[in-house]
Amino acid sequence: MTNFTNFRFEIDADGIALATWDMKDRSMNVITNQVMDELSQIIEKVASDEAIKGCVITSGKETFSGGADLTMLQSSNAEFMRVAKEKGEEAANTFLFEESRKLSLLYRRLETCGKPFAIAIHGVCLGGAFELALACHFRVLSDVDSTRVGLPEVKVGLFPGAGGTQRVARLMQTGDALQMLFKGEQLRPLMARNMGLAHAVAPRDQIVQTAKDWIKNGGSAVAPWDQKGYKLPSNKVYSAAGMQIWPPANAIYRRETQDNYPAIRAILETVYQGLQLPMDLALKVESRWFAKILRSKEAAAMIRTLFLSMQDLNKGARRPKDVPPTSIKKVGVVGAGFMGASVAYVTANAGLQVVLIDRDVEAAEKGKAHSHKLMSDQIMKGRAKTADRDALLERIKTSADYSDLADCDLVIEAVFEDPKVKAEVIQKVEAAIRPDCIFASNTSTLPISGLAKTSKNAGQFIGIHFFSPVEKMMLVEIIKGKETGDKALATALDYVRLIKKTPIVVNDSRGFFANRCVLAYILEGHLMLTEGLPAAMIEQAGKQAGMPVGPLSLNDEVGVDLGLKILKATKAQLGDAAIVPQQEVLLTALVEKEGRFGRKNRKGFYDYPEGGQKRLWPELKNLQTKHVEPELVDMQELKERLLVTQALEAARTVEEGVITDPREADVGSILGFGFAPYTGGALSYIDFMGAKAFVELCRKLQEKYGERFAPPKLLLDMAANGETFYGRAAAKKAA
Ligand code: NAD
Repeated sequence: MTNFTNFRFEIDADGIALATWDMKDRSMNVITNQVMDELSQIIEKVASDEAIKGCVITSGKETFSGGADLTMLQSSNAEFMRVAKEKGEEAANTFLFEESRKLSLLYRRLETCGKPFAIAIHGVCLGGAFELALACHFRVLSDVDSTRVGLPEVKVGLFPGAGGTQRVARLMQTGDALQMLFKGEQLRPLMARNMGLAHAVAPRDQIVQTAKDWIKNGGSAVAPWDQKGYKLPSNKVYSAAGMQIWPPANAIYRRETQDNYPAIRAILETVYQGLQLPMDLALKVESRWFAKILRSKEAAAMIRTLFLSMQDLNKGARRPKDVPPTSIKKVGVVGAGFMGASVAYVTANAGLQVVLIDRDVEAAEKGKAHSHKLMSDQIMKGRAKTADRDALLERIKTSADYSDLADCDLVIEAVFEDPKVKAEVIQKVEAAIRPDCIFASNTSTLPISGLAKTSKNAGQFIGIHFFSPVEKMMLVEIIKGKETGDKALATALDYVRLIKKTPIVVNDSRGFFANRCVLAYILEGHLMLTEGLPAAMIEQAGKQAGMPVGPLSLNDEVGVDLGLKILKATKAQLGDAAIVPQQEVLLTALVEKEGRFGRKNRKGFYDYPEGGQKRLWPELKNLQTKHVEPELVDMQELKERLLVTQALEAARTVEEGVITDPREADVGSILGFGFAPYTGGALSYIDFMGAKAFVELCRKLQEKYGERFAPPKLLLDMAANGETFYGRAAAKKAA
């Protein structure tokens, strides 16, 4: 047995080698330079040693591998800058190309070394690790539900650059291959096998043997595409079949990405070009595109926000260090309505005990029924067993008696959004809980410090703000009131970690962080409508800018009536100047005259016919007092307005001290309201444009559309000093 640092290497009596990837000091295997080195040595050993028939690769960890170390990719970018400075752009480009094709060449060597390689996968095998699998001649997956394979690189602005695009496109029909590569989805074992991406599925303890048996039984060391007579699954690119694929593929690409994601465009290019070339050249084309994409600002922005920052936040970057780990076992949820029922579900689903309280047991039971329904849906899809549902329901105790909260470690209230009701509930809860129990409110509009005034223990009072639908939305906003203490913050963060969501910590403010930006987006849509712009173009501009839905659709989802309610409350509390009169006129007409509340009553900016597709309400234009000809609409400007207004609001939250860490605004904006992910988030949008250019854009919009586009002082200072949000944060940390 030869021991490498990252692999155990042994040869059995049949002459079959087993390379077990098991990195020391790491909980998960990742591809690093050293791993690549050692893998190369293993390949050469297998290729050259006549006594070795072939090799099985597996993992010694609970899971296979998440792929390449993204910080390694980031450092090759830094190295590019260094070479560019010292030797010029061309030398730097050559360097990056050579650097970024190392892994691809290594896998190709494995594929063509003359000996069969098989891979036995249990757990997660993603990105560069799955590309390794694709280069192996035989792939067997464990039949365990947690086993997942896939190429999720597009989710961080990259694409599979170690042969993934070429091998997938040679294993599957082109249309399916493109879909899989565009989406970056993770596939379950049977799905992967049915799609032709794996050869076999076997019980966990038999995967290595299955792989060995395949070698023993004469498994071929030649990949299908290296065999004589190989035919592409969808025939040649320039063929009648190819012509059925490529024109629509372009259209689908545009529809899905609005051309905002260079990495996805690169997939289209590499597959299109690669399928017309022999494998080695095809891989070279892929590498060229990969080096180009590695240098894109979209990849830099997405890696930073959606990988590095998100990981930091998930690991507790904002957790007060001095508070020892908390032990949360039982959580009280007061208010079993729309939100409370879902909070109870995600909490019980994390294995915690829940006490679900409402005004009477029937109401609490109704809330619990939501969990029953969700689990039953899972069972129907084959993702859970009846026993799982029973166990989860067992963990939720319903009650109308507050004394049942006595042994809770954390209580979250989600009762009506009414300060009087909340005050009453706060008193009742505090009379029942242990003195060390943390108490949180899920309010979306009431300042936490205000609610804390009715609490007798404001240091233990905090906001835990969920987004709807709770089961799907990965973000949770944690709001610190003026007096919120570290123990409360640590407990809230530990809880969010237990339910596997991503937290951001914000200081108290009206609307906190996410809803402030969302309201700005919706307001801009309303104002465009009052300017006479066609509704369909407003909606399209939102999507083209990279938002998941247009501003009018979004308003329908959250409720047009809720929009009017918030506007009225703002006017009552802060005065006329705090609202925009045109918006009030529009919403009043829609809600109070037309009874259009949004999707909830099937009538909002859109109509929602029973069983049919939603469509813009045809009479909407009658509420517009003027109409701009579609030909005169500047779509680019609409897109800018819709993103700038949100980014400006995010910048204001930094200026006001609501957001204290730019990572939280960026992650929060993408996870909370889908802010154009390719930008890296609402603050990265400004940083990558540059504060100076952003301020100039704001000035242009301010002149045309009014004071809401006035850049705040913070941005003027940043523009004058050439600063970025991340640069400022780093300087502050270093100080
Ligand atoms: P909801 O009306 O669906 O549910 C409120 C529940 O509280 C009802 O079941 C009601 O019976 C119960 N309740 C009222 N008074 C009570 C009392 N004294 N004791 C016990 N239970 C009582 O409302 P919702 O949409 O679930 O909102 C609840 C909270 O969550 C609000 O603070 C709201 O701002 C916040 N929130 C809502 C959303 C959303 O999308 N709806 C999103 C984030 C936060």
